[in-house]
Amino acid sequence: MQEVHPKRDIRKLKPDELKKFFIEQGDKPFRATQVDEWLWKKSAKSFDQMTNLSVATRDLLKQNFTINHIHVDTMQRSADGTIKNAVKLHDGLIVESVLIPAEKRITACVSSQVGCSLACKFCATARLKRQRNLSADEIYDQVAAIKEQSETIFNRPLTNIVFMGMGEPLLNYANVTAAIDKITSPKGLGMAMKRITVSTVGIAKMIIKMADDGVKFNLAVSLHAAIDGTRSSIMPINDSNPLSELAAALKYWYQKTKRKVTYEYVVWQDVNDTPEHAQALLKFAQIIPSKVNLIEYNPIDEGGFKQAGDDVLRMYMDLLEKHGITTRIRKSRGKDIDAACGQLANKG
Ligand code: SAH
Repeated sequence: MQEVHPKRDIRKLKPDELKKFFIEQGDKPFRATQVDEWLWKKSAKSFDQMTNLSVATRDLLKQNFTINHIHVDTMQRSADGTIKNAVKLHDGLIVESVLIPAEKRITACVSSQVGCSLACKFCATARLKRQRNLSADEIYDQVAAIKEQSETIFNRPLTNIVFMGMGEPLLNYANVTAAIDKITSPKGLGMAMKRITVSTVGIAKMIIKMADDGVKFNLAVSLHAAIDGTRSSIMPINDSNPLSELAAALKYWYQKTKRKVTYEYVVWQDVNDTPEHAQALLKFAQIIPSKVNLIEYNPIDEGGFKQAGDDVLRMYMDLLEKHGITTRIRKSRGKDIDAACGQLANKG
């Protein structure tokens, strides 16, 4: 009986493997370059789109490979222009990605995992549990899809990318960095490394690895509390990865990269709304050059967490700015369609 091989995902092949395939088939090796261009630069979703290949070559590819491209299943548009995509993966799982239009920039917020394993108490994605990592091309496809929406719907180029969707990017590091390589490559989307920000819960050993690898994208850390007891109570990762380890990793990061870090921080009533918490944040923010984004809380259920009042935000802001730490208050976008930070939970 003939063994049936499942078709291989063509984007998992290395350029040399595709060249070898064409040579074995008695074709020219440069076909691999043509196919590569279709797959990445032009984001082809099917072999039939590859019109500079003969029908016979396209058939050959179809018989041997698949393109496990994502499909935007549904698109929701917020009153503020934000667009949320529910993205269907080749195995039927769904993640969400968001296009955020602003005056000077258009930002793509992309997911790195299906669900999340981190269990942060205030985040809707945490309730989904982690199902799997996204592959590099599934991450790339989200950016390519948003880039196209940006151009067709807003008639403007996509300018920024943030890894602030579902999942923890540093727990899917190899695929996230492979995707970023393609996103920034002239053979891919040709976007600038300095416009890309990876946001992490702050996994110390991965921050050290990033520093060693000499990555060139920006780093944001979801801090939310600079006192261990408080942070552990809302972010369980802090038990195994306490602030002292995070601080040491960040020092190493700065030493190696000489680049600032951005801290994301929500101020909640009765959680971290005291001057003592603000002082602790100031102290932490002074460890290496940094900026602070005070982000608005997006309620994910009844009760539980409540955003602190404006007076508390001002107390934080005054203290940090007085000591030269650039601090911004970030308003939510896309809240009406559950597209804002921490609201991504495949609710449709
Ligand atoms: N795991 C990464 C990437 C997720 S980014 C990280 O933790 O950084 C999502 C950002 O939104 C994080 O800063 C997260 O702490 C924040 N967030 C989560 N839930 C939120 C909510 N309900 N309201 C506002 N921000 C939230």
